[in-house]
Amino acid sequence: MKRPLIKVDNLQKHFPVHSGMLGRKTGVIKAVDGVSFEVYEGETLGIVGESGCGKSTTGRLIMRLLDYTDGSIEINGQQISKLSKQEMRVMRRDIQMVFQDPYASLNPRHTIGKILEEPLIVHGLGNAKERKVKVSEFLNIVGLSDYHSSRYPHQFSGGQRQRIGIARALMTNPKLIIADEPVSALDVSIQAQVLNLMQKLQKDLGLTYIFIAHDLGVVRHISNRVGVMYLGKMVELAVSELLYEEPLHPYTQALLASVPVPDPNFSREITLLEGDIPSASDPPSGCAFHTRCPFKMDRCVQQVPQMITVKPGHSVACHLYDRTQ
Ligand code: SF4
Repeated sequence: MKRPLIKVDNLQKHFPVHSGMLGRKTGVIKAVDGVSFEVYEGETLGIVGESGCGKSTTGRLIMRLLDYTDGSIEINGQQISKLSKQEMRVMRRDIQMVFQDPYASLNPRHTIGKILEEPLIVHGLGNAKERKVKVSEFLNIVGLSDYHSSRYPHQFSGGQRQRIGIARALMTNPKLIIADEPVSALDVSIQAQVLNLMQKLQKDLGLTYIFIAHDLGVVRHISNRVGVMYLGKMVELAVSELLYEEPLHPYTQALLASVPVPDPNFSREITLLEGDIPSASDPPSGCAFHTRCPFKMDRCVQQVPQMITVKPGHSVACHLYDRTQ
């Protein structure tokens, strides 16, 4: 039986909206609104959705870079909201993050050696000599060389900088990496190299990944399961083969339709996504996707669809699949 490393239950993050001269609270943005999922040891869970759907906020809540409004996050059986600052510091060694823009996340005034050594110093791991050995080891693991440690971030290409970002995340021997759009800023050819590196590292080091992306094409080959988010909610969660072969939610179908296919004879029957994503401060009633959904029914405007398991390994929140009414 596989063990969940992360268990997220009914997670919510609401940001207050203030306006007027007095800055009164006039509403809330439900950035994450009742999201539940598990991540098993050694797997990759892809989380996909358009910008503003809450996927990055979910990642930051798991890292506890933000406090959540309600719900729970369990890591290795421990509720993170109950951990003391000291316990959370220890937990942070096990969870690291790789960011979208490797350049912005690397201090331009520090050498790569110093950047990679920093997490070890913060967590009090090893003496100066041991840290130097480890920096060299991880530079090599991500396909760079020892001499790179004396260089500065601006002396590297985008792909190399993301390799440095990955090496930095690995320095504390984490169990889980949350990768927030790690290849979105890179050229397509470089994207494949970084994805291959991440897959190799996962196999060699037994890592678990949460891989956040805005397009389903990027996460396809790296994810064991994929969750699709829309306006703060998870609308479909499935093992990868099922999600890509038999997408159920109209939003997932539309996202898949927007992934380019390198075959001129390929034609699709499904509708491309139209219209803008509604504001999270004033989401549509019922199913939040009803303003863009070609299958909208009366019920969709009134009732929020609940996540239901349609078959083992495939859940969806859409009234089209709810046979109870
Ligand atoms: Fe479309 Fe209704 Fe399903 Fe929402 S619940 S995705 S509006 S069919």
